[in-house]
Amino acid sequence: MGMNAREIRKLISADDILEWSRPTRGGCWQWEGSLHNDGYAAWNTGGRQVKVHRAAYLLFVGPIPKKRFVCHTCRNKACVNPDCLKLVDHKGLYEHNLEQGNVARGERNGFSTLNAKKVRRIRRLAASGKYSHRQIGDIVGCHQTNVTRIVNRMYWGHID
Ligand SMILES: [Zn+2]
Repeated sequence: MGMNAREIRKLISADDILEWSRPTRGGCWQWEGSLHNDGYAAWNTGGRQVKVHRAAYLLFVGPIPKKRFVCHTCRNKACVNPDCLKLVDHKGLYEHNLEQGNVARGERNGFSTLNAKKVRRIRRLAASGKYSHRQIGDIVGCHQTNVTRIVNRMYWGHID
């Protein structure tokens, strides 16, 4: 996973973040430096690459506990405004990614706990007409809301 707080503090400062970002009308701090391949703000220094939104949380808000992830409430991955960031656990991150449609990209998403096999199983169970979405959620271990979205092809539409 990412580097620890001490390493991050050595590589980037709060001033760096303020200097390299620009407030938008929507309330974000738009990163004007480079971006990671996945669209997140990147800070490259000394051969290391820092995820700036994580650094922003750490420097402006506080420590990031183990097994907690920093995610955006503003849907803007290149935003580094600490007010747009929140800590979530693994489950929260998964739900966040579902909401953002990131999981629609499928299994390549490292945080996705649903795989193609499970999606097909959900759709098969739904097609049988024997189970409610809640029951299907209990069977496969996934929230009812997500079952509905998968059945309606709002998520994982690329899976037959
Ligand atoms: Zn934002």
